[in-house]
Amino acid sequence: GVPALRQALQQPQRRRSSGFNHFVDSDPGKLEPTVPPPPLLAGATPFRLAVKDNIATDEFPTQCASRILVGHASPFEATIVRQLRARGAEVVGKTNMDEFGMGSHSTNSIHGPVRNPLSANDDEPISAGGSSGGSAVAVMLGDADIALGTDTGGSIRLPASYTGAVGYRPSYGMLSRFGVFPYANSLDTVGLIARGARPILRLLADGELDQEHDPNDPTSLSSATRRRCAAACPPTLGDNSQLTVGIPLEYNIAELDPVIRATWAAAASALESAGATVVPVSLPSTREALCAYYVIAAAEASSNLAKYDGVRYGVRPPESRGDGAGHTLYSETRGVGFGDEVKRRILLGTYSLSSAAIDNYFVQAQRVRRLIRRDFDRVFRLANPLCDGGGDGAQFDLCDMPEHTLLADKRGPPQVDFLLSATTPSFPPRLADVLQRSSLDAYMNDVFTVPASLAGLPAVSLPVPAAETRLPAGLQLVGQFWDDRRLLAMAERLK
Ligand code: GLN
Repeated sequence: GVPALRQALQQPQRRRSSGFNHFVDSDPGKLEPTVPPPPLLAGATPFRLAVKDNIATDEFPTQCASRILVGHASPFEATIVRQLRARGAEVVGKTNMDEFGMGSHSTNSIHGPVRNPLSANDDEPISAGGSSGGSAVAVMLGDADIALGTDTGGSIRLPASYTGAVGYRPSYGMLSRFGVFPYANSLDTVGLIARGARPILRLLADGELDQEHDPNDPTSLSSATRRRCAAACPPTLGDNSQLTVGIPLEYNIAELDPVIRATWAAAASALESAGATVVPVSLPSTREALCAYYVIAAAEASSNLAKYDGVRYGVRPPESRGDGAGHTLYSETRGVGFGDEVKRRILLGTYSLSSAAIDNYFVQAQRVRRLIRRDFDRVFRLANPLCDGGGDGAQFDLCDMPEHTLLADKRGPPQVDFLLSATTPSFPPRLADVLQRSSLDAYMNDVFTVPASLAGLPAVSLPVPAAETRLPAGLQLVGQFWDDRRLLAMAERLK
């Protein structure tokens, strides 16, 4: 229509950068849109949006970097894409990723690995982080102003940290996941990557993205709960003298790169000199978070991916002898269609949910998850708005435990507005090394990002120049539930 044309003409086409393998050049290519774009909202300004390939779009196939979804054209578009189109987005392409979001380096992809533009030379590319690596690279190369990613256990924050972008994971249930291919439902979020925090904050606050309930997403918070949560958070950040930032001591692990540790310490001192109060805090269950995450995420993935069996979903291999009776068709489709890491997660998840193992793994991991949530609630100044017994907070079964209500009181430890840590324990490794190492090694990269995921809290990774290296270090800020606007304002102030 005319508005779309006007919008397209306002935005001169720039040539996409190539060689970093961050866009998915798919077959089939661009599709004929099935629905007209939504009307532009008042105040919408045009911007170029890159979309991770596990988020359904009308004009492009959605393949999750998986052989099992080659050529898959979604019959509808994700709510978040529609919401951003109404705010001025023009979708420039789909971005490369780890298959179904499983990975930390964007190497588990049928399109091959994403390369980080910060690599010192072409012969030795370094990891762009994952699983939203393509989205972060699209933003950093200027191919998009903003990119959509998904963050289950760190997949937005990790690539942001490796590429020098700002990556934002929202509070769980804030941004609609309708049209986002599920990996682990109790952890999945869709979030944004940009060069700075300001454009993201603008979409959330001026664009009121955080106020829109989506009836199509059962985990999207109701309008009433949104109002209650918003009322529980201070409307503005205030000046530094009113802010307390916590330094979680358990994040100072032996494996932390000394340069990153020094950058983290320098940022804390700079905050203190700028008038904020900086205090050490303890989150004792942090140590167990990584194990709990990989049990829960794999368990949920094994259940989610069961539908890709070649019957309703999933590309059947042409040579399949599937007779519809089951086994041959399923195993042939899944054997050919899924990559190694996805198969590994399905096997791990199926095992941990089996009757012999469930008590030792899945149930135990859920207990750890509650302890992690409790740790956070004890150190934040604000109460968790889902845990005061009202609204539909009960849908998050994490809050209704007696131990939680008893121990989430505010005595004892210092009360903070935000927590500051490193996003990742090390700088981006060389891709050649990643491909040699075990998957356990990749899991280790998520050690600082999974705790906020398990607790459903908002978190931002922001780039900070580090001494002795040209690579930026990623620092992570975590806030209380629904305190996203202040969190982004704080990230903007720190950068
Ligand atoms: N690296 C983590 C995993 O493989 C996180 C992925 C994500 O957040 N999507 O599960």
